[in-house]
Amino acid sequence: MKIVKFGGSSLATGESVAQAIQIILSDPQRQVMVVSAPGKRNTTDIKVTDLLIKYADLALKHKNCVEIVNKIFSRYQEIGHYFGLADTELSIIKQILLELPNQGYPNEKYLLAAFKAHGERLNARLITLVLRHQGINSRFLDPAEAGLIVTGEPNDAIVNPESYLNLDQIKIKADERIVFPGFFGMTPSGNIATFSRGGSDITGAILARGFHADLYENFTDVNGIFAANPHIIEHPQSIKKMTYREMRELSYAGFSVFHDEALIPAIQGQIPINVKNTHDPSNPGTMIVPEKDFVPDNAITGVTSQKHFSALYLHKYLLNKEAGFTLRILQILYQHNIPYEHMPSGIEDYAIIMVVGEGMRQKHTISRQIIDSLGDHDISPQMINQGASQISIMIGTKKEKADEAVKIIYQKFFN
Ligand code: ASP
Repeated sequence: MKIVKFGGSSLATGESVAQAIQIILSDPQRQVMVVSAPGKRNTTDIKVTDLLIKYADLALKHKNCVEIVNKIFSRYQEIGHYFGLADTELSIIKQILLELPNQGYPNEKYLLAAFKAHGERLNARLITLVLRHQGINSRFLDPAEAGLIVTGEPNDAIVNPESYLNLDQIKIKADERIVFPGFFGMTPSGNIATFSRGGSDITGAILARGFHADLYENFTDVNGIFAANPHIIEHPQSIKKMTYREMRELSYAGFSVFHDEALIPAIQGQIPINVKNTHDPSNPGTMIVPEKDFVPDNAITGVTSQKHFSALYLHKYLLNKEAGFTLRILQILYQHNIPYEHMPSGIEDYAIIMVVGEGMRQKHTISRQIIDSLGDHDISPQMINQGASQISIMIGTKKEKADEAVKIIYQKFFN
């Protein structure tokens, strides 16, 4: 069985929803569809999630919400009408939207989470209506009913492991399609809490593990994951296959096609992930697979950069004789809730370049080649760090040199 997640840009219009449905129906194994809220129809459009955030804000201030509700409802209505659904069938969506401010919430954060979550919750209901209208045996499955339990921050929740036991109990008939809303779960006390933004990817991965799927297909609007940022490199190659940990290293420093938190459930369940394009479904996309038996095609898999890092330079004699010094430094950062990739100094603005590839472990000359080719272009690394796993090298450069450094490394290894 396959879990198939569609992102917001893949579900923004009736036409794209029709394409998503066609993808689902073209493979009987594609039984579970995880949906995002309708995204942008064009570059100046607003995502339904962002409209819902506005709605929450107006509701909290007790302002008139008629206009915003109509705007949100019209997004669902437009999709419904595309499939010939009547307004009487769609009225339930408007009713739920109008009722949102009247539900009880423990505090404002939970109110915001519940409003946001309805982008996906209502879209899953709508898509179930559409499927049924087309005579397809389908069922809307809500996180509340499925027992997808989350804890932590209401707008940055984490999955509770109990969810996997609950999902294991769900029976899915051989001829039925499940439509599941992404992005949120229920707290043990029954409130809605969402994952961080873009978190429908996480729901897909949780279901893939919970339902013991053979594959987690993640449909977006690009042909998989590129080896470098297309804003820096013209027509970069797309990565055919990479390991979980390569993906993790790359997403630390800017690869954002797939949500980094969504890797964890997939790794725990050892479920391969296939990132694919809704508008070009026959393109194989990118496979993200376990490390075991992985044979790299190239020395490096991807190169990325992330700007606006500060470097904290501490100088102290006989530091090597003193135990616990770094621990104390990190404790200070911890007390101030500062992730230690972002050490404060403010003297200079750095960028980090991450070069990632399982293939680097076998080839001991890669780091030299990288440094040499940067040197040939007068870029001197301010910092170099190779992790013990030997699959990534982090190079710190001046911020203004970052894009050029990515280009040089990409040309060296991919052309
Ligand atoms: N709709 C949510 C967001 O815009 C979650 C998602 O799309 O994955 O962040």
